[in-house]
Amino acid sequence: MQAAVGPVGRVRLGVVMRVDAVARNVTRDLDDLPGGGILLEHATRHTAAFSIDSDQPCLALRIGIDLGGTKIVATALDGSDEVVRLRTDTPRGDYGKTLEAITNLVAAVEHFVQQRRPQGNGGRASIGVGIPGTISASSGLVKNANSTWLIDQPLREDLETRLGRPVRIANDANCFAISEATDGAAAGAEVVFGVIIGTGVGGGIVVHGHLVGGMNGIAGEWGHNPLPMPDANDEPLPQCYCGKRGCIETFLSGPGMSADHEKVSAVKLLPPEIVEAAASGDAAADATLQRYEQRMARALAGVINVLDPDVIVLGGGMSNIARLYTNVPRLWRQYVFCAGADELRTRLVAAKHGDASGVRGAAWLWPIR
Ligand SMILES: [Zn+2]
Repeated sequence: MQAAVGPVGRVRLGVVMRVDAVARNVTRDLDDLPGGGILLEHATRHTAAFSIDSDQPCLALRIGIDLGGTKIVATALDGSDEVVRLRTDTPRGDYGKTLEAITNLVAAVEHFVQQRRPQGNGGRASIGVGIPGTISASSGLVKNANSTWLIDQPLREDLETRLGRPVRIANDANCFAISEATDGAAAGAEVVFGVIIGTGVGGGIVVHGHLVGGMNGIAGEWGHNPLPMPDANDEPLPQCYCGKRGCIETFLSGPGMSADHEKVSAVKLLPPEIVEAAASGDAAADATLQRYEQRMARALAGVINVLDPDVIVLGGGMSNIARLYTNVPRLWRQYVFCAGADELRTRLVAAKHGDASGVRGAAWLWPIR
């Protein structure tokens, strides 16, 4: 088995910030590659288990790419073990440079593996990419991306040409759901709803280990459903960037919580500050959290009524609010169809892999054979 050494700190190429044999080797290896600005986040000492000896993408080694609005992260998974994780800044607004950055990251990961694998033939890892949007089933072009320079671009085709192999692409919330359903907080569950709540609200559905993408590529996108059963506290319904009013995202996102707190208390606070204030006995902050929990209960009860998942996994910044996991399931009972006295067995749990779930799920777009 691999001897994981864990995160070795943020290491800019050629500048070892923490003395570690792995970090030294990685930075030396990566120095030779084009496209500077690649940072090391994690590496393991050994990569002995690989057998990359086929012309086909090798499912023994999976590369995942998380294409975010500010950074692009790449990982290589050997089974569930993360071999290396690298990142670089996203060339915002420049599609060509975004393609180049992804290509360079893949080259860097494969170079790292190549230096450490046992003797064998050449071969290529499989590649999955998570994006803040989706690929249109009809046109094959990117749609619904808040990284607007990706919209209407043939991202999959362009990456396949550059990387010389098939590439699978999925929405980043779907990647999160795959990761947590595969070897995360919902491992072993039959039906999983994965939710990312941060600056936005996204979701993904995994059934029996398979992603449910949907005919329109929007399965699980509950963030732009209207908040169910709005009451006087919810009025006036906030305007959403999507053009509608009262979307779940306008209430449950981090900015949504801050805006609600300011509306009621006239105090501007970030969500962690609201949580801290509530824990210190601030009644207004506690009331904000109670409204938030009540809204999340209504929103997730709607999901339970449609999907009836075994597990709902929360990720993103708002998933760090510990009280959600006890309070929301207590509240959602009153909105779930015929819950009555019957036991409601759906669990609400925090993501196991945290921020790494997006990139791990991208790698898992090529599932185990
Ligand atoms: Zn909306």
